[in-house]
Amino acid sequence: MSEFTNVAEIFGSNVFNDAVMQERLPKKVYKELKKTIEEGKELDLATADVIAHEMKEWAIEKGATHYTHWFQPLTGVTAEKHDSFISAPDKNGKVLMSFSGKELIKGEPDASSFPSGGLRATFEARGYTAWDCTSPAFVRQDAAGATLCIPTAFCSYTGEALDQKTPLLRSMEAINTEALRLLRLFGNTTSRRVTPSVGPEQEYFLVDKAKYLQRKDLIYTGRTLFGAMPPKGQELDDHYFGNIRQRIAAFMKEVNEELWKLGVTAKTQHNEVAPAQHELAPIYAECNVAVDHNQIVMKTLKMVACRHGLQCLLHEKPFAGVNGSGKHNNWSITTDDGINLLDPGTTPHENIQFLLVLACILKAVDTHVDLLRESAADVGNDHRLGANEAPPAIISVFLGEQLEDVVEQLISTGEATHSLKGGKLETGVKTLPDLTKDATDRNRTSPFAFTGNKFEFRMVGSKDSIAAPNIVLNTIVAEAFAEASDVLEKAEDFDLAVHDLIKKYLTEHQRIVFNGNGYSDAWVEEAERRGLPNIKSMVDAIPALTTDKAIGLFEKFHVFTKAELESRAEIQYETYAKAINIEAKAMIDIASKQIIPAVIKYTKSLADTVNSVTAAGAEASVQSELLAETSGLLSDTKVALQKLMDLDKKSEEVPEGTELAHYFHEEIVPAMAELRAPVDALEMIVDKEMWPMPSYGDLMFEV
Ligand code: ADP
Ligand code: MG
Repeated sequence: MSEFTNVAEIFGSNVFNDAVMQERLPKKVYKELKKTIEEGKELDLATADVIAHEMKEWAIEKGATHYTHWFQPLTGVTAEKHDSFISAPDKNGKVLMSFSGKELIKGEPDASSFPSGGLRATFEARGYTAWDCTSPAFVRQDAAGATLCIPTAFCSYTGEALDQKTPLLRSMEAINTEALRLLRLFGNTTSRRVTPSVGPEQEYFLVDKAKYLQRKDLIYTGRTLFGAMPPKGQELDDHYFGNIRQRIAAFMKEVNEELWKLGVTAKTQHNEVAPAQHELAPIYAECNVAVDHNQIVMKTLKMVACRHGLQCLLHEKPFAGVNGSGKHNNWSITTDDGINLLDPGTTPHENIQFLLVLACILKAVDTHVDLLRESAADVGNDHRLGANEAPPAIISVFLGEQLEDVVEQLISTGEATHSLKGGKLETGVKTLPDLTKDATDRNRTSPFAFTGNKFEFRMVGSKDSIAAPNIVLNTIVAEAFAEASDVLEKAEDFDLAVHDLIKKYLTEHQRIVFNGNGYSDAWVEEAERRGLPNIKSMVDAIPALTTDKAIGLFEKFHVFTKAELESRAEIQYETYAKAINIEAKAMIDIASKQIIPAVIKYTKSLADTVNSVTAAGAEASVQSELLAETSGLLSDTKVALQKLMDLDKKSEEVPEGTELAHYFHEEIVPAMAELRAPVDALEMIVDKEMWPMPSYGDLMFEV
C-alpha cells in the first residue's frame, strides 16, 4: 500500500501565495502589494524590502539556500541563474542570509546568450528581469536543494521584450481594457477586471531510461530518427483511457504531489491513444499563471521521470506511425466577479451579449488565422499538423449543432427565435439514471472548437510554451471587441446596432465555421474553395508575424513593436534551421557509426552461413536471398547517407535566416526521409541481437 497523501495539507505548501502574504506581511505592506497586483501600481523600494525579507525568511524555513529570477526567454523553456542568500562574512567569519527588495524586483542576467533576433548586439549584453508579482513565487525542491523561484519578465536595456511573459502580460491588459469597454455598453458597471482563463491539457510519452540512453536520436533530438513499426501499434485503441500500469501510476502519484506542493492544480490523468502516451490536465487558471504552471508541469514530468528510471518525452512526434503529442489550450474570458463571457446559458439565442462575443471571436479568428497558425508552429509540430491524428493545418471553428443553428437563423432571417435543446439521454437500461444530454456532441477533429463555455485550441505542440497562442488569442479578440465598441459607442439605437453588428460579423466570417470531419480530404478541398489558408509547415507560417496586418494589430494594442515582431520571426527561422541541422547531424552520426557497421556484421554472418551451408553440400537459397536483399538496402543506405552529408555540408554556404530555414526544410528534410527508408527496412530484416539500439516495440511496449 502506498502512503496516505493529505492533499489539502500539501497543496500550495511551497507557494508564497495570498494566504502566506496575508499572514506574514505587515498589513500596510500587504495592502500595497495587493494594489500593485490588482491595479498595476508601482511598488516602492521600502515596501519591496519588507516583502523580500519575509519571502526569504519563509523560503529558508522551507530549506531554501538560493533564489532565482525564473524567466521564459525565447528558447521555449525557462531560464534561471541561482544566487545563494549568503552575504559577505562578518569579522567573526559568520555569514548572514540576506535578500533585498532590489534583488527581488530586478535582476540583471547577462542577456547575450539568449536569442534576441537582432534586438540586441552581443556587446550590449544588458538584459533585465523584473518581478511579475501577479504570478506567485515558489520554492522548488530538487537535487540542487531548495530554491526560491521568482517569476519574472525579461527585457532588453531599451525595454524590448526578450521573453514570452512580457507580451503575454501586455495582451492581457489589452483584452481587459477592451472587454470592459464592451461590458459597460451592455450596462455592466460592477465588473472591474476581465482576465483570460486557460487550462492546458499536456500530452507526453514515457519510456524506460536505460533504453532511452541507448538511443542517440532521442538523446540529441527528443525524437526517433529511425525506427520500424512494431507488429502492434495503436490500432486496437486499447491504450486510450486504459488501465494505468503500476510503474506509471507511481510516477503519476509523485508528479501530482510535486505539482500540488507548487500550487499547480493537477486534476486529470489518463493514458492517451498511442502506447506509452499519457495526459495531464490542471484546473484552468488565469492566463499568465497557466503559462507558468505549464512550464512547471513540463519540468516536473521530466524530473520525476528520472527518479523512476523513466524518461519523459515531450516532443510532438517521438515516434513515426503512432499519434504525436499536443497541448489543448482551453481558453475563456472571465470577469473578476465571476461572469464567463463565453457562457451561452441554456438559451443562447436570447443571450445577445454572448452572441456578440461569439461573433467577435469568429471575426478575430477568421481575420487572423495566419497568426494563430503561426503561434502553434514549432519544429516538432510540423510532423503533427496535417498528419492524420492531429487537427489539420487548416484552422476552422467548430460551434456544435446548437450554436451553428442559432448562427444560421441569424444570418438567414436576421432573427434567432429558438435554441436546440439537449433533451434526455436514453440508454434503454432501467437501472441507469436519466442523464441530461448536452445540446451538442463533441468534435475531436476541429483545431478550434467551442466546448460549452470555452474555446479549445488544439494545435499547440506538446513541447512548446503556450504563451504565444494565448498572446495571439488575447490580442485578436481585444481587437474585435475594440472594433465592435467603436461602432456601438456611436450608435443611436444600441439594441438595433448590436443586432446588425452580430448579423454582419456572422455573415462576413461564416466561412471559418466548420462542423464536419476536419480529417477528411473533402474538407481540404472545401477549405480551399472557402479561401482558408492551409499552411503546412513552420517555415511557411513564420511570415504571418511580420505582415502589415500583424504589425498594425500588435502595435495598436502595445503587445509587440515592429522590431519585436521582426526579431521573433528571425528567431523562429534560426531555431528551425538549428533544430533540423542537429537532426541531420545526428542521423549521419547514427547511420555511419552504428547502423552501417551493424549491418555489415550481419551480412558477414549471412555470407559465412551461405558459405558453410553450401560447403556442406546443402542449398542456401534463403540465406543468399537475404544476403542480396540486405546488401541492396545497405547500398541504398550508403547512397542516401552520402547525399545527406553533401547537402548538410552545403548548408554552410547558405545565408542565415529565411533562406537557410527554407534550405533545411526543402533540401535536408526530404534527404533525411530518404535515408530513413532503407534503414527502417533493414531493421525488419537484421537479427534483433545485432541491431544497435532498442526498437519501437522495446520503447513503447516495455515501459
Ligand atoms: P477533455 O475532455 O477536453 O480532454 P480535460 O478535462 O482533459 O477535457 O481538460 C479540460 C481543460 O479545460 C481543463 O484544464 C479544464 O480546467 C479546462 N477548462 C474548463 N473550463 C474552462 C474555462 N471556462 N476556461 C478555460 N479552461 C477551462
Ligand atoms: Mg483531456
